[in-house]
This record gives sequence, C-alpha cells and structure tokens, in this order.
Amino acid sequence: MKLNTLNTNLNQFRYLSFKKVRTWYAKLVPPRSIKEPYRHVIQIGDPRLRTVSEGVPLNLITTPEIQLVINQLKVVFKKYKCVGLSATQIGVPIRIFLMEFNEKHATAYSEQERNVMDIKPCPLKVVINPEIKILDYTKLVFPEACESVKGFYADVPRYRSLNLKGLDENGKSFSHDFSGWLARIIQHEMDHLNGITYIDLMDRKTFTCGCWNVINEHGGKVELPYSPD
Ligand SMILES: [Zn+2]
Repeated sequence: MKLNTLNTNLNQFRYLSFKKVRTWYAKLVPPRSIKEPYRHVIQIGDPRLRTVSEGVPLNLITTPEIQLVINQLKVVFKKYKCVGLSATQIGVPIRIFLMEFNEKHATAYSEQERNVMDIKPCPLKVVINPEIKILDYTKLVFPEACESVKGFYADVPRYRSLNLKGLDENGKSFSHDFSGWLARIIQHEMDHLNGITYIDLMDRKTFTCGCWNVINEHGGKVELPYSPD
C-alpha cells in the first residue's frame, strides 16, 4: 500500500461511524475457532434446540469429556446468572442440566410473589439423565423466560409438583420431590432436552419483548447483548 493511499484511507476512516468501524475491524480479524461446549447460549432457530438430546452412559459420567461439559455449563450458568440451563443450550445435545435458586435470585421477587409463585431456594444441582413423574397435574400459569429466546418472556402453564430422578456429577442417583417454581424450572429444562422451548407451550398473546418501553424511550437505538461479557 502506498503512503498517499494510506492517507486517503485514514481520512475516510475519520468519517466512519463507530458501528462501521466495528464492522470493518471484524472483517480484518479472523473469527476465533469456537467449539462446543460454548461459552455462550445458543438462540432459537439453532437446530440443536429442536433435537432430542442423548442420554449419558453411566460409565462416561466421570470422563474428562463429560466433566468438561459440566464445568463449562457451570461457567455459563454463572455468567448468565441462570436458574436453569441445559447442555443443549451450550451446543452439546446430551441429557444434562443445571438448576439453582439462591437468595440473590429471590430478591428479584417481592415476598407476596414468592408466596404466590411458591418460590423456594435450591442449591446448585447437576442433573444427568433426568426423569420426571408429575405428582400434581394442577397447572400454574406464570411468566417465564429463556436464555435461548433472549429478550422475551411469556405466560407458560406448568404442573404444580413432580418427582425428579437423576444422577449427580459423580454418577450417584437421587430422587427428590419439587413443587412451584422449582418444578417449573425442571419442566423447562426437561423440555430443552426433548427439543421443546417455552414458546411451544406459552400463551401467545402474552409474548413480550422485555425492553419494549426502553426501545421507545431511546428511539429504537437499543442493542441486546448475547453474552454478558
Ligand atoms: Zn430455556
């Protein structure tokens, strides 16, 4: 490249908007080799969210490959501040999900909401090859969101209580009963393992963009990050 050409390019560069510069820069930098398990959550439309995930053979649970998926799932779970996340959502269609509901999560709800929605705490739980049995077929309808349908929420009916059987990250089996919000999280994650997302079950008229009012306040100039970092 000749110097005068470079000067011309620099002059043009000054008049480029930040967005254009970013696009220009992205073309210069080759994309990193991004492989599963991802450090981000895949979005609706990705065919993997429509596949039935494979069970994990008992003798493979403690192998480095499966433990890598579990550890990566924990990293993404924490990064996105999830209450539930399936391996499918980080690009690995195997039957594993994480769930947790801690005091920090609970602060997003008033005491009245916590009572009405039957919100109880649950420490971080790794669930492998889950099986559920519905104990109470009463359906409760509350708003639900999903990291794979970023930015939206809708009312979704879910069964009131269930029994969850599965294996922990060491391959040890467990069986617990859950109700209310925790039963909802489990049904949501089980659905992911079966290629179902909440938009298949929601009351369509309640489907809402979580920042519709902010979009109006900012004249449409709002960007939605698909990764917290
Ligand atoms: Zn989800």
